[in-house]
Amino acid sequence: MKKIILTADRPTGKLHIGHYAGSLKNRVKLQNSGEYDKIFIMIADAQALTDNADNPEKVRQNIIEVALDYLSCGIDPQKSTILIQSQIPQLCELTFYYANLVTVSRLQRNPTVKSEIKMRNFEASIPVGFFTYPISQAADITAFDATTVPVGEDQKPMLEQTSEIVRKFNSVYGRTLVEPSILLPDNKASLRLPGTDGMAKMSKSLGNCIYLSDSADQIRKKVMGMFTDPDHLRVADPGKVDGNPVFIYLDAFSKQEHFDRYLPEYENLDALKNHYRRGGLGDVKVKKFLISVLEEELEPIRERRKIYEHDIPGVYDILKKGTEKALETASATMSRVKDAMKINYFEDRQFISEQIKKYSE
Ligand code: ATP
Ligand code: MG
Repeated sequence: MKKIILTADRPTGKLHIGHYAGSLKNRVKLQNSGEYDKIFIMIADAQALTDNADNPEKVRQNIIEVALDYLSCGIDPQKSTILIQSQIPQLCELTFYYANLVTVSRLQRNPTVKSEIKMRNFEASIPVGFFTYPISQAADITAFDATTVPVGEDQKPMLEQTSEIVRKFNSVYGRTLVEPSILLPDNKASLRLPGTDGMAKMSKSLGNCIYLSDSADQIRKKVMGMFTDPDHLRVADPGKVDGNPVFIYLDAFSKQEHFDRYLPEYENLDALKNHYRRGGLGDVKVKKFLISVLEEELEPIRERRKIYEHDIPGVYDILKKGTEKALETASATMSRVKDAMKINYFEDRQFISEQIKKYSE
């Protein structure tokens, strides 16, 4: 079986280091491993509209931002197909048919949808489109026959729901769809990077992000203002490392070589953590180290972004070509699905000849 990747991001803002740690970094690695036959990277504008229906301009503006973030992180359009979701009508078609295989109570139980409804204060009036977006995500994944979906941990319930839809579809209509596997980051801290405010998830909707396109100065200010351990008031006080976002970011991004370069007095991250726990290590010192670590990772991304920012028509061309290519794959899947569901009235010659026979008897 071919190995195919699909992942997506909602164009609701620029991409942040949570996206990078949770998914984007992995995508670039997998892309360059040469182990995958096809890689589809989707800008999920239709999904973004499910909770931004009144703000299409925001979604429209952010398509190019997300595309610039992809390219500057090393997504290579020669190796990966970047596409725009709304331009592939088959994704709506698939969603419509898959909806018949999912119950309302199953959607209500989806933990990601549950927490996102809460976060958006949608409890009293949930848009139907938002409520059903796990179904459209199943359409996105299966339209491209994806075997592998590299995402952050928040997407686990979505992948489970997709697998259920695939199994249900295949059992009702015969083996047609490919069941995908989730690929989570190896690094535990990257599964769900917290926000700079200490909230459980860095998220565009919560405004607690360090963006890939932030300037060195913005990064410095954001890190210096980061939530740490509220009980660590004086340098001498013992501090908490668990749940402290500064240390979680170091878990996600620091490498041994960073210690050799910026903090040679500490052997490694464990030594730094132990000192913080004991007391006598101030937040400022740890934050300054984090700034250096992040700057090493983000500076080359920022520089590549500048190059693409000077060629916006070229970026739109990449999106157009990728979308056209993706359309071919999605229509092939759609034909297979229609055959399986017997909604291929005009293509099924045998069916037509049976009808002729029936009425001529
Ligand atoms: P929104 O608030 O609009 O939902 P978001 O910040 O959650 O935006 P998405 O576009 O929904 O971002 O997520 C895109 C991808 O990035 C998904 O694979 C998701 O798992 C991953 N991701 C997003 N935020 C994080 C995070 N804080 N840590 C790890 N992975 C993340
Ligand atoms: Mg999200």
